[in-house]
Amino acid sequence: MNENIFKRNELLAGKVIKGLESRNMTGYYAANKDEARKLALSIIGKGSSVTMGGAMSAHEIGLVEELKKGEYDFIDRDAMEDKRAAMLMAYDADVFLSSANAITEDGVIVNIDGNSNRVSAIAQGPRKVLFIVGMNKVCDDVDGALKRARNVAAPINAQRFNISTPCTKTGSCMNCKSPDTICCQFLITRFSRHKDRIHVILVNDNLGF
Ligand code: SF4
Repeated sequence: MNENIFKRNELLAGKVIKGLESRNMTGYYAANKDEARKLALSIIGKGSSVTMGGAMSAHEIGLVEELKKGEYDFIDRDAMEDKRAAMLMAYDADVFLSSANAITEDGVIVNIDGNSNRVSAIAQGPRKVLFIVGMNKVCDDVDGALKRARNVAAPINAQRFNISTPCTKTGSCMNCKSPDTICCQFLITRFSRHKDRIHVILVNDNLGF
């Protein structure tokens, strides 16, 4: 990565981390994917039960692969036939892994969900929530974060799942009420009631979408 981008990301991450701290959440900066994976494993702790919502970024830093190696109680919802049981197990897990659709410079986290299992587990249930967030997700403010979530993350996710929504054809949000919409719930996480519950690793890389 270009040295100037690296420096800019480091400075910007410091600002986001301060914002998170002011909201009773904990932020970290990882200079690369390897550092992010090691940091995530130390936050999770061996033996912990871990589950996840949509978390492409956790895959991209090699974290999911590592969690499946046996030293962690990884609840693999993709391998479970009973999806409802998998969703319910998430609420009692030690750690819930997630990416974010966007995060503001002052530490507000924005997520959109269709099934809503991800946003509900972020809001309450798991003892810890660990976000893996590439610096490409940082936006000026909540308006910018919502715009990013709706016009970048959601259309790409809709295309990824090959569903029939207007954004799969236009590439941007058409504010649909399609039965297939993946934009059923919007979660804006502006404060954590519980100290040491929400942790955010900002990674000096472009992760997810
Ligand atoms: S509201 Fe509809 S059109 Fe907009 S991003 Fe969501 S699924 Fe796509």
